[in-house]
Amino acid sequence: MPAPKTGLPVCQHILLGLQLLQARELLMEAAQTVRSGYAKSSKAGTLAGRLTDSLDSLRSELDDRSAGEHPANEDWAPNIYYGANAETWAQTVLPIWHRHQAGNPDCCAGMPEPTR
Ligand SMILES: [Zn+2]
Repeated sequence: MPAPKTGLPVCQHILLGLQLLQARELLMEAAQTVRSGYAKSSKAGTLAGRLTDSLDSLRSELDDRSAGEHPANEDWAPNIYYGANAETWAQTVLPIWHRHQAGNPDCCAGMPEPTR
């Protein structure tokens, strides 16, 4: 019987948060390009406007789940999924990454430090 799935280590939440943030920025750029050529009310314009909806729902859910899985303040920060600017991210999320990696856990041993 497979082990129950109980969530992700904080390192994976940090990497996922960055992936989703980068994906969101790409989708926003794509939506802007679509809207430069098609009316907001056209089918293309409407669909472009919804491009990030599912991604935003996932970020919100993962923000809730990760907060529940890592309740101690020093092991979690809202900036994991709501990235803030690069400087704030480095001040709030990177220390969590470093504390987590200090134990050399299997989930991220030898993995390079992520960048915002
Ligand atoms: Zn890890």
